[in-house]
Amino acid sequence: MIPYGRQSIDKKDIVAVSAVLKSDWLTQGPKVLEFEKALAKYCSAKFAVAVSSGTAALHLAYSVAGIGEGDEVITTPNTFVATTNMLLVVGAKPVFCDIRLDIYNLDKNEIEKLITKKTKAIVPVHFAGQPCEMDVILKIAKKYGLLVIEDACHALGAKCKNKKIGSISDMTIFSFHPVKSVTTGEGGAVLTNNKNFYKKLILLRSHGVVKDKKGFNVMTALGYNYRLTDIQAALGISQLKKLDKFIQKRHQAVELYEKYLVSNKNIILPKELTENCSAWHLYVIRTKSEKTRLPLYNFLKKNGVGVNFHYPPVYSQPYYRKNGYENISLPNAELYNETAITIPLFADISEKEIKYVSGKINKFFNG
Ligand SMILES: *Cc1c(COP(=O)(O)O)cnc(C)c1O
Repeated sequence: MIPYGRQSIDKKDIVAVSAVLKSDWLTQGPKVLEFEKALAKYCSAKFAVAVSSGTAALHLAYSVAGIGEGDEVITTPNTFVATTNMLLVVGAKPVFCDIRLDIYNLDKNEIEKLITKKTKAIVPVHFAGQPCEMDVILKIAKKYGLLVIEDACHALGAKCKNKKIGSISDMTIFSFHPVKSVTTGEGGAVLTNNKNFYKKLILLRSHGVVKDKKGFNVMTALGYNYRLTDIQAALGISQLKKLDKFIQKRHQAVELYEKYLVSNKNIILPKELTENCSAWHLYVIRTKSEKTRLPLYNFLKKNGVGVNFHYPPVYSQPYYRKNGYENISLPNAELYNETAITIPLFADISEKEIKYVSGKINKFFNG
């Protein structure tokens, strides 16, 4: 089975992790600091705070932004559930905005209609690694005094108008789960240019405990244990050195898919809004007919292709349907839901595998 996504681990990664296992520090220590510096530098951000997962990063970012009870946050239904689950955890209400049918990101023209007196923030998600139209989103946020927190779990290494994702808005979230651009096994980070947010993030990451003037540990805020380990950070440092190469390989894989699939008139291939902006986390094709999507999905699965689906609209998840979202239906998100299939894309996918997957897709339609 060719998986839809997977990590690339080499000898250098293994050596880096082994070295930490022989050292004095296992949990958060010098390697975490080094990883944070490297991340901030890569993204041209002032501060990076490494944490135990992307979900933890979202929870911390929403918390330090002061998002809570009574607040509304505008986001996309085309995301992993964690984006909005963490809003529910802090007591806020996710407000779902429809998506564009060419790039599957938040439709900038739909955002303003959803703003109310309760709106506190916009959370754009750079779906599949393609950045949202951040210039427009930031302009809207400024006009209404809203915070912008990017869920960039798909988009480490992506660029928006020559700015690296991670440097642009109030806070940016990354994940280092094995299917993402680089991995630490599990892990995540919040990037920010705001020193106040940075200090609060550090505090809440580790129980809200700080050293007082006499050097004693005192608890000053209600925090968590969202620390990353030095073992994980060592892997992250080693992986980050290869990030640009990984992304370049993903771009090459996309070019090959285009070569083998471009003449197939029954499917729609994903597009970049501007050249080389995407981190190409996922490769999502859409069938032109809603009728062929499920048969194609099953045909590929039967033939050893690790197809997947990112994402059914979050509001359609049983938990959301039961908790205030029973009636919402956004037309583009619904059509997307009926036509999209994720096919394999990862840094080390071979041309042979791409040819095989493409061949099966073409065979399904041409017999
Ligand atoms: C992966 C992902 C997350 C969660 O990250 P974890 O590290 O798995 O907790 C959140 N949002 C999006 C868009 C993701 O893809």
